[in-house]
Amino acid sequence: MSTCTVEDLLIIGSGPAGLTAAIYAARANMHPLVLHGSQPGGQLTTTTRVDNFPGFAQGVEGPDLMQVMEQQALRFGTRIQQETVIKADLTPPVFEVTTEGGCYQSRALIIATGASAKMLGLENEWELYGRGVSVCATCDGFFYKDKDVVVVGGGDTAMEDATFLARFARSVTVVHRRDSLRATPPLQQRARDNERIRFRWNSVVTSIDGTVETGLQGITLENVETGAQEKVECDGLFVAIGHKPNTDLFKGQIKLNEGGFVQTHNHTATTIPGVFAAGDVQDEEFRQAITAAGSGAQAAIQAERFLESLSDRRAAP
Ligand code: NAP
Repeated sequence: MSTCTVEDLLIIGSGPAGLTAAIYAARANMHPLVLHGSQPGGQLTTTTRVDNFPGFAQGVEGPDLMQVMEQQALRFGTRIQQETVIKADLTPPVFEVTTEGGCYQSRALIIATGASAKMLGLENEWELYGRGVSVCATCDGFFYKDKDVVVVGGGDTAMEDATFLARFARSVTVVHRRDSLRATPPLQQRARDNERIRFRWNSVVTSIDGTVETGLQGITLENVETGAQEKVECDGLFVAIGHKPNTDLFKGQIKLNEGGFVQTHNHTATTIPGVFAAGDVQDEEFRQAITAAGSGAQAAIQAERFLESLSDRRAAP
């Protein structure tokens, strides 16, 4: 016999999508249970000031925003467990989720597992992770006061990271594989205007130098047009080349697109009735905190309608 707790609504993930879904679901008396996951609060806990989330005229720090969202969800009776899901069985009619600490069954499920930072795929990047290699400028920037750091990438994250790191570091070198940036114009301009930031165009990192004992000592850059290689000494390497959706748990059970993002239709519905997806895990295009929050609200409302349809069916003569 199963010893899993049976819930009406389980939400996996506690970023803006998961917590907004929780606020809406709790206010609709669905008594949601949120499983925190390995990065409580999601990606915003690794960012600095958020200036484009409505309601904060002076901007808000990412971690503060997530803390307030969590408090708002708790205020209406959301339960939040600090557990990471290791297995999910999406076979209807009751979905079963296993964590390291136990298991949960639920009649409706919202997947809000977000996305994780992509790495370069170089030999010792994990060995030197936390010893000079980082994916989180906000978390680690403070350790690079008066040091030389490199940021890889040409998107919004790379520009934000470079600008943030320039507050501490002696120099910030942005390494980008092309000669034009993907980042939105205001973020590009802010980085270009910063005299501590310089750009290495048409360049990729081909090796990371250092050992566990020495920490990061430098990198080798290759110019993709000329093939020229160059050693660059640096103390920090911040990888900002995008994110991979956290959907491994659901592979083969719901439809994912080519990039691995959950494919949704009719807003947040997945290919399994009763399973909804919200936030970055299903949004390859926008991936903004506000769009994640919006889809979290949609997912909760759709889950509520789904649960109502189940009770209507049970009540039917
Ligand atoms: P992104 O937009 O996907 O940009 C990734 C960057 O990394 C691109 O410049 C890409 O180069 C480069 N890249 C990818 N794989 C690489 C590899 N293997 N080696 C070297 N370079 C590689 O990712 P993001 O910057 O993390 O942004 C993700 C989303 O979040 C975007 O929609 C962005 O607008 C949003 N965002 C918004 C804000 C904000 O509004 N404040 C802040 C951060 C992020 P190519 O350009 O050549 O493809």
